[in-house]
Amino acid sequence: MSAEATHEPRRIGVFGGAFDPPHNAHVALVRAALAQFDLDALHIIPTGHAWHKARALSAPEHRLAMTRLAFANVPGVVVDDRELQRMGPTFTIDTLKTLQAENPECQLYLFIGADQFAAFRQWHKWQEILEIAIICIADRAESMLAQTQFDAYAPHNHRFFTLKLPLMSVSATQVRRLMASGVATAEAVAKWVPEPVARYISLHQLYGPG
Ligand code: ATP
Repeated sequence: MSAEATHEPRRIGVFGGAFDPPHNAHVALVRAALAQFDLDALHIIPTGHAWHKARALSAPEHRLAMTRLAFANVPGVVVDDRELQRMGPTFTIDTLKTLQAENPECQLYLFIGADQFAAFRQWHKWQEILEIAIICIADRAESMLAQTQFDAYAPHNHRFFTLKLPLMSVSATQVRRLMASGVATAEAVAKWVPEPVARYISLHQLYGPG
């Protein structure tokens, strides 16, 4: 039943990332999020200048184009470039506030991987994030969730949920390394990224051996 029919607040998901490049685990996470949380829409938000990423990211236009390609066939997704339009460092709290202002009746759901959750207390204004959004966490092979991580947020631990998602050990770092190795076969790349993204990477010679 839709939120409109029940007069429940609209449920809007938010999933941010460098998407350098977007990969198959991102797509699986988004499909699971839409289904499990009955979302009305899910905003996928490539980060601008992410304060916590030490490495220089690929050009915003490439990351945005790849994100559009990766999620083109997923109904309910809105690829949202607001952080790329913003000058200076991007903070999730600012993005959530703009979304809330645009959709005052909605409930926001923020989706993150377990590696991000492990560092959540270092996020800018994390307490405010908890007030605005429900946090949904996907297990990640390299950083599995532990119950004690949730206990640490008592009495706010009711604001956290886990997303059921088969563990996928793919990361954007692995994809970049694979491409830089110069021995990436089409089959190997297809295991990691959606086919249109693989074609885009090859066309624009992203991540290739220098
Ligand atoms: P990098 O390897 O460059 O750090 P990444 O693979 O972590 O990149 P991001 O674009 O930084 O990709 O991730 C966006 C979001 O997706 C983060 O919340 C991250 O935790 C989550 N995520 C990425 N890969 C996975 C995965 N394999 N399983 C679960 N969550 C993931």
